[in-house]
Amino acid sequence: MRQVLAADIGGTNIRLALVSEDGCIIDETRCTAELSRHNLQSQQNAEVHILNALCEVIQPFADMHAVTSLGMGFPGFFHSQSGLLASSPNLPLLRDFALAERLAEQLSIDVAVENDALCAAIGEHRYGAGKGYANLLHVTLGTGIGSGLILNHAPYSGEHGMAMEFGHLCIEHHDGRLCGCGNHGCVEAYASATAIIRRFNECCGAHSDAKEVFELAQQGHDCANRIMLEAGQYLGMAIAEAVKLLDVTSITVSGGLSGAWDLLYPALMSELDTNLIPPLKGKVDVLRSTLDDNAGLLGAAAIAP
Ligand code: BGC
Ligand code: ZN
Repeated sequence: MRQVLAADIGGTNIRLALVSEDGCIIDETRCTAELSRHNLQSQQNAEVHILNALCEVIQPFADMHAVTSLGMGFPGFFHSQSGLLASSPNLPLLRDFALAERLAEQLSIDVAVENDALCAAIGEHRYGAGKGYANLLHVTLGTGIGSGLILNHAPYSGEHGMAMEFGHLCIEHHDGRLCGCGNHGCVEAYASATAIIRRFNECCGAHSDAKEVFELAQQGHDCANRIMLEAGQYLGMAIAEAVKLLDVTSITVSGGLSGAWDLLYPALMSELDTNLIPPLKGKVDVLRSTLDDNAGLLGAAAIAP
């Protein structure tokens, strides 16, 4: 059975796996790499830093398994015709970056790269909670917030490859918080892991990570609780807006923040229901991923050339 390499790249984590054609993860490795380091200064430095960080992990793993095909999910806006990474809100120095081509050159293997959330949608639809649905909206909650759409069993990525940028739906029109994309009021600026940490630190003058904020919220910490509740509400509002446009009623959610499901879900569902158009109230299902955060990897394997 054919085996390929799959990579799921986040702002701070690189995950790499050997995946069989039927979606089994045979071997896997992960590491933290600060891809979004802010002292890189130039675009060229950022490109070299990212290519080196990726190749350092991929090269030995590819050699060990003697595989020559890699599918990768990477955060950002990909141009469907040119395959270039146009830009990436959480890796701001990258512009029109020929990521797949440069990786293929450096690693001497065949490479395909797609938006990370679209890969997760493909994985969830093929193997996870979205299996069997003709139409599916998949939302990823992590450093950034992304989404991928499956329409009539096929991924939909828009005219330029940049559809479904769910994280940048504007949900706060007045004095909205600044988002990594440069706009104000995006859902990502309120409900991503980065935003939750930032908001908690602003409120408590602390330096914590997202997990710590969830734990404090669970223990009834006022500020942590309010921030999680609001994150759930903002997500519910944004999902309602997406449903108004798409009339897709099956939604799946994956990513690091989906670990805080019990905290997010009630507020999310209640705000979703309030904001849906009346005929769809109570008819939208929001399901947590069943893939233990492997949706992105499995989808990346599915796009490997
Ligand atoms: C980016 C998306 C990406 C998401 C999750 C967002 O900031 O705009 O392209 O899918 O983060 O990484
Ligand atoms: Zn934004």
